[in-house]
Amino acid sequence: MTAARLIDGAAIAREVRAGVAGRAARLAAADHVPGLAVILVGDDPASQVYVRNKIKACAEAGIRSIHETYPADLAESALLDRIAALNADDAVHGILVQMPLPPHISAQRVIEAIDAGKDVDGYSVESAGRLLSGLPGFKPCTPWGCMRLIESTGIALRGKHAVVIGRSNTVGKPMALLLLQADATVTLCHSRTADLAEHSRRADVVVAAVGRANTLTADMVKPGAVVIDVGMNRNAAGKLCGDVDFAGVAQVAGAITPVPGGVGPMTIAMLLSNTVDAAERAAGSQQRAT
Ligand code: NAP
Repeated sequence: MTAARLIDGAAIAREVRAGVAGRAARLAAADHVPGLAVILVGDDPASQVYVRNKIKACAEAGIRSIHETYPADLAESALLDRIAALNADDAVHGILVQMPLPPHISAQRVIEAIDAGKDVDGYSVESAGRLLSGLPGFKPCTPWGCMRLIESTGIALRGKHAVVIGRSNTVGKPMALLLLQADATVTLCHSRTADLAEHSRRADVVVAAVGRANTLTADMVKPGAVVIDVGMNRNAAGKLCGDVDFAGVAQVAGAITPVPGGVGPMTIAMLLSNTVDAAERAAGSQQRAT
């Protein structure tokens, strides 16, 4: 059995970011610098790292970022007021509120407060509805990035069987919809699925988005399948690992993403891409209005 081809998410993310930087430069030359507002409430260390990485990536791509940090006891109404002001600000094309929020703030209310045209995370009910209906709109960054990784393998998804493990609103469900839009036949598995291996063994593409190491092992994978590992877990030694038993599955799969260096870098790249999409749309509608 041959070892799987490694899907280099870091390299593909670099390509996406280079494309984004070119589009951002063209917008800037026409006086439409793309802008992303990133809001952090509280001092969760992991969230601070995510926000820092997003801001750095914006700077590298020529996207102006507006970074706002608030104490954990910020009132929900104050956050909603701030979002309303950013909605009205023409220099802001995307608004991202880092999750999780403190328990006294409703994440859903906050997400729904973001103008649908600036929902670059793609988490709002409107964005989800647009995806479900096949209408244009923001696609959630992680599954959208997974699609790019799958496409990079050259697999023609039409008529293929794809299995998604995990049904969260932010990863699993939109992932299943994107695969469906690409004409795959999709099975969506979750913690109540009776026999996960029975489904995954028939899959040409498996996307694991669970949050538990070793959910997918070599005996659960069809030889030659494309395996995308969204999971971000810590093993017993404290090392970052995915949901897939990488060493074992790489002996069976045709192509596989590593963790780190697979899906992770794509999430930020697609966020930048969504932001530039929003800025291009805003610039186009401004031009049409003048
Ligand atoms: P989540 O909201 O906790 O959802 C996990 C899903 O996995 C649920 O649908 C759950 O089923 C299912 N599940 C749990 N145990 C299972 C099992 N034994 N067999 C089959 N399904 C099982 O998590 P998430 O937000 O989707 O994230 C999933 C993982 O991806 C996490 O490790 C997260 O850190 C990672 N992630 C990575 C990135 C990135 O950029 N790399 C981005 C987002 C998330 P039920 O619905 O039945 O409970």
